[in-house]
Amino acid sequence: MKDFITRFAPSPTGYLHLGHAFSALTVWRAAREAGGKFLLRIEDIDQTRCRPEFETAIFEDLVWLGLDWDGEVRRQSDHFADYAAALDTLIGKGVVYRCFKTRKEILDEIARAPHLSASGPEGPIYTGEPLPADEERVLLAEGSPFAWRLSMNAALAIAARPLVFREETSSGEMKEVSATPEIFGDAIIARKDAGTSYHLASVQDDALQGVTHVIRGEDLRAAAHLHTLLQALLDLPQPVYRHHRLITDETGRRLAKRDKALTLRAMREAGESAESVRRRLGFE
Ligand code: GLU
Repeated sequence: MKDFITRFAPSPTGYLHLGHAFSALTVWRAAREAGGKFLLRIEDIDQTRCRPEFETAIFEDLVWLGLDWDGEVRRQSDHFADYAAALDTLIGKGVVYRCFKTRKEILDEIARAPHLSASGPEGPIYTGEPLPADEERVLLAEGSPFAWRLSMNAALAIAARPLVFREETSSGEMKEVSATPEIFGDAIIARKDAGTSYHLASVQDDALQGVTHVIRGEDLRAAAHLHTLLQALLDLPQPVYRHHRLITDETGRRLAKRDKALTLRAMREAGESAESVRRRLGFE
């Protein structure tokens, strides 16, 4: 198949576990079966939680698993300027506003208006508005930190394309899905501490890297709805989405970085071979 570019995009906040291995193998195999490209992207915008040793470990673990990637690794922390440019576009379109509130203030505000407290993919749905210009000037002059939030209503009002995305099911069927980004409320597009967010950096990079197929866990299925809106606002091409199942432990709980025994590293140290890990995950 021509033009099949996909990616594995881990965050170096811990060692890769069996769930990451399943994801990486799924994405890698899709690329190789399609005669396409498998890119590796390090999503390290959260500079407080990401650590260089975890990044090195990602490379080691993927090589150990028998995976190879195409081209240079893209490290998001090297590209904050790209995300700032995308944010500027959204500012220019008037679809984002500065939010100076702390997490606690937001939660208190939601608690005071329980009729508004529906829950979205990232917790309680918040809808706010920009501060009056004079109040904002004072806070800016004081150097108060702020995040940029998407004004969902303003964004939906100007989105210049139908908000739909294509999703390929595990049986290979292509579905057109109507995107409902409003389930996120006024999503944070640039965090106080990072100047960007997973959402903004991810859509920007997928476009810059020419990604045609985004293949990731079904825990991120909702993200495609918001990403479709961001792609429309930023005039970016839309990839096809595939969502794979998640690996759980014996109690049915999703694996997390805290499950130390199931890191690839721990399994390797315990003498398990890469072949046996691959087999365990259904990759013969
Ligand atoms: N960095 C994200 C994660 O580790 C990946 C998100 C994506 O594939 O878009 O969950």
